[in-house]
Amino acid sequence: MTSGPILIIEDERDLRDLVEQQLRREGFETLSAATAEEGLRLAHTPRVSLVLLDLMLPDLSGIEVCRRLRADAATKALPIIMLTARSEEIDRVVGFEVGADDYVVKSNLSMRELTLRVRAVLRRRASDAGAADAGSQRPANRFEVGGLVVNSDEHRVWVAGEEVVLTATEFKLLTALIDRAGRVQTRGSLLEGVWEMAPDLNTRTVDTHVKRLREKLGAAADYIETVRGVGYRFNAAKVK
Ligand code: CA
Repeated sequence: MTSGPILIIEDERDLRDLVEQQLRREGFETLSAATAEEGLRLAHTPRVSLVLLDLMLPDLSGIEVCRRLRADAATKALPIIMLTARSEEIDRVVGFEVGADDYVVKSNLSMRELTLRVRAVLRRRASDAGAADAGSQRPANRFEVGGLVVNSDEHRVWVAGEEVVLTATEFKLLTALIDRAGRVQTRGSLLEGVWEMAPDLNTRTVDTHVKRLREKLGAAADYIETVRGVGYRFNAAKVK
């Protein structure tokens, strides 16, 4: 494991110890905090690679901690996995505004699943960073991953060398997902961003367009991941 320490912000001591032991057994370094204040301070530790963040902390909510991490230039790119007590909280947690990368539900938390999620988020971040580095040597209007090429100046898309003709809305949807690659976007936030509609109206519109976009993208369709019950995510690590 070459990644830096994982920061665990959780006030329940037993759970914090359990998670810490598990991650150490898997070869990760860890840091831990029992309050939001301490967590926000430790997030500035050099090389911190990921934050596991409890939703309910004694001093601030996990959502507020997430907002503050995202608002601070030093910590805004840190991957965040939220620990929630109940699955009903997920919608709030993974929402557009909060910007967590993933979540796990504590009530049925398996340590194996937690480790898998941590590894997946770290992998995704590494691959997004790789794509961003590669992108910096190309004109800014061009995005390329695997066989998918998107030219946003010309509104043109290619998959494996073949041009794919998208409608203006499909193109906007694809670039909205790519712009926030690696992060889940709720149907509501996509409605607002792509259709400029109220987030509570007609979320089926999003599903219909995603379905059509995937059909058109063919071999590159798997880059658009469905996050069940929440929304969609562009996952650059998805297709080999
Ligand atoms: Ca708690």
